[in-house]
Amino acid sequence: MIDVAPGDFTPFLRNLRQAGYVGGNITIPHKERAFSLVDRADDAAGHIGAVNTVWLEDDALCGTNTDWTGFSDNMDACAPGWEQVETAVILGAGGAARGILYALATRGIERVRIINRTRPRAEALARDFAGLFASPIEVCEWQSLPEAFAGSGLLINTTSIWMEADGAPVPDLSPLSSRAIVSDIVYIPLQTPLLAAAQERKLTTVGGLGMLLHQAVPGFEHWFGIRPEVTEDLRNLIVRDMENHR
Ligand code: NAP
Repeated sequence: MIDVAPGDFTPFLRNLRQAGYVGGNITIPHKERAFSLVDRADDAAGHIGAVNTVWLEDDALCGTNTDWTGFSDNMDACAPGWEQVETAVILGAGGAARGILYALATRGIERVRIINRTRPRAEALARDFAGLFASPIEVCEWQSLPEAFAGSGLLINTTSIWMEADGAPVPDLSPLSSRAIVSDIVYIPLQTPLLAAAQERKLTTVGGLGMLLHQAVPGFEHWFGIRPEVTEDLRNLIVRDMENHR
């Protein structure tokens, strides 16, 4: 992991090859800037407006966004059939939410509700992705979570609320469908308060570490020519590494 200050990011990315790198993963706050700096970006990166994976091809710096495939590959592994839900609710409207929305659209989910602390950000997201869904994206208020959750079969948390606001209350999950899947893309801690609350209600839960591992697969293949497999052993290795760096 290399910390790069926003002011240093452009020269850092431009000098990737000279610095001896074959590519890399990029995280907040640089993903949007990376999109504007790569020589070639694919359709997914274009829709999402952010690049989290770069690699070199001849003289070109190429970029894609693998957050969306990381999310859907992890959902396929942990909750097969997840895409058959009719209505999904997303908490949050940041960079990660954009990738998740693209994943939901690509997998044919028809109805989406977005709830974000800062409503205009959710409205901008709803506008940007409007054409990709069969029904208009609904923007709901934190104050009306029970209505937003009502009957939904998939709840995805993309906010860092339970990382940032220690002890923030978890919303009542009872309005969700009794067979709902609850996914939290946050992976520190591995067991988030939202996942714990969902497990208490015997709902299917999907944590964020699997998404992190799956999103790295295409990048690793671009950089080293080998497509790694996300296995239990790999997961345990990363969990041990995270514990050692706490
Ligand atoms: P971001 O662009 O900074 O967005 C953060 C989101 O969290 C915004 O919607 C923000 O709302 C909301 N938020 C933050 N603090 C809050 C609070 N106290 N109360 C309510 N809402 C709050 O970040 P991001 O890139 O979307 O990442 C979000 C989280 O997802 C991070 O924890 C990141 O580690 C995780 N993530 C995981 C993976 C993975 O592979 N598992 C991949 C990407 C991201 P406002 O708009 O109101 O500020």
